[in-house]
Amino acid sequence: MHELSICQSMLSQIEAVARDNRASAVHRVKVQIGPLSGVEPQLLQQAFPIAVAGSIARDAILDIELLPIRIECQQCGGESEATANKLICGHCGHWQTRLLSGDEMLLASLELDRATNKKTATC
Ligand SMILES: [Zn+2]
Repeated sequence: MHELSICQSMLSQIEAVARDNRASAVHRVKVQIGPLSGVEPQLLQQAFPIAVAGSIARDAILDIELLPIRIECQQCGGESEATANKLICGHCGHWQTRLLSGDEMLLASLELDRATNKKTATC
């Protein structure tokens, strides 16, 4: 399963941030996914508990934020939002556009627990 390996590599990032912040537990993991990243949010949600079992993030909640697709028009130079199956300019309707964002997957932030206080770390 593709999403499980994504979660496993995400976990090594999470563990590194937790270690840097001397966290005792991770409460919340926030990721941002672009619709063109090839990552299925629902499958990621299912794979997450499997990947983090027994780790510092075993009780963490996975928060998925979907990013918009943004494109730049080659014709009029305008930027607009688009949908995955319709990458056309929102200003002039031209189809020759360049993808600005929407194909990324980012670990956005972590909510950590330290012995004394709670902390949010930005990755
Ligand atoms: Zn245009």
